[in-house]
Amino acid sequence: MKLSVGLALLGVLFSLNGGFVVPVATAADTPSVEDAEKEKIRQIVKDAIREYVASQRVVPEKGGANAILADIRLANRNFVRTHGPDYFKPFLDGQHPRATVITCSDSRVHSHALDATPDGDLFMVRNIGNQMSTAEGSVEYGVHHLHTPLLLIVGHSACGAIKAAAGDYSQESAPIRRELDTLQIPKGDPGMNSIKLNVNYQVGAARSKFEREVIEGQLTVVGAIYDFTNEMRQGQGKLNIINVNGETDAAKIAALEFMKEGPVTKSMPTRHRRASRKAKVEADAVPESTDEPTKNKSGR
Ligand SMILES: [Zn+2]
Repeated sequence: MKLSVGLALLGVLFSLNGGFVVPVATAADTPSVEDAEKEKIRQIVKDAIREYVASQRVVPEKGGANAILADIRLANRNFVRTHGPDYFKPFLDGQHPRATVITCSDSRVHSHALDATPDGDLFMVRNIGNQMSTAEGSVEYGVHHLHTPLLLIVGHSACGAIKAAAGDYSQESAPIRRELDTLQIPKGDPGMNSIKLNVNYQVGAARSKFEREVIEGQLTVVGAIYDFTNEMRQGQGKLNIINVNGETDAAKIAALEFMKEGPVTKSMPTRHRRASRKAKVEADAVPESTDEPTKNKSGR
């Protein structure tokens, strides 16, 4: 009520040149009455402005929750508009992802860097520090129930969790401390060395947990660094694979079949992928020369 009254007054008092005017006092008015009136009006205007600004809660840089939600709803409307029933058909009856992926929760790390169309493809597990121990059940679900033949653990450059774990985090809350305690990295080294150490440690933990699957060849555990700062000088945004089933020798990793540049698998429409894990293995075995050179997943 007060706000609407104030705003109405605001409308009356706001002049065309952007300034506020107050009712013109006549010469007959005594100065004290005029000043008191002016002060009263100024106060009402100030209150109205304050209330109006508070009601908007606009934070210039990020936007408030309302603005963000409006944005999200708009993005989703566009998504709905541009994705017909055919898009959802392949995974309506269930999910059959190709890989279980553990990444850091960091907002700069997303699945589109690894997969142009991750829907139905990647079983994503995210937490601070891309860890096994704080998401064990989720990872186990991907490997044991969804039977993904690949477990990919992705660390990244400029990781805040690693930075925090390498320093003094005793002032953090208990839940955050718990999730930093499980990162096995040395104190005082918050950089790439610790980021790699952590990825290798997580690969080791996964290999222990899924020892049977790895030995029987049902699961490959891979550790990689998503390097969006190009600290490793391999290209900005490159996913650098540093560990394959415990193998960390760069030359040996580079010699692996999947490390060859260019498409090594035939591209496959999304709707065909689900029933074709076996077919995919066969496609992997097809010599490179028979592949369609320009087609890849992004062309689906
Ligand atoms: Zn991180």
